[in-house]
Amino acid sequence: MPHTCKNLLIRCMDFRLYKKTKKWIAESDLFEGGFDVISIAGAGKELVDGSEEVKNNLMKQIGISVDIHQAKKIILFHHSDCGAYALDYKFSSLEEEKEKQFEDMKKVKEVILEKYPEVKVVFVWGELKDDNGDKIEFEVIST
Ligand SMILES: [Zn+2]
Repeated sequence: MPHTCKNLLIRCMDFRLYKKTKKWIAESDLFEGGFDVISIAGAGKELVDGSEEVKNNLMKQIGISVDIHQAKKIILFHHSDCGAYALDYKFSSLEEEKEKQFEDMKKVKEVILEKYPEVKVVFVWGELKDDNGDKIEFEVIST
């Protein structure tokens, strides 16, 4: 039986995000029509600086969502204090980390649109207000 959904969420695997993100998704109209999930450390980071093999694999996953499930919108969710970014960068401030991640998110959008020009890409920034994810501020940036 054909099965479709309207959205694809690409998110970081970080366990601290789960509880609040689940609640936020339930309350947000961004995810109307259902959504697929790709959960990987750094969210879109590997599409910018990962190996060709990892990039190809990620594009394949995105393709399954867009081509098979007919997703029309990709929600790219990055967050502050991200371990995947901490591995590669030493940020001196939250602003610096956010700036770098947004730079990467824009590159991810370009990579996706190159192959799937018809999809809409939305950025979401989650700012952790404590160390364990009990308080997260979500910011949606329509691009
Ligand atoms: Zn992360």
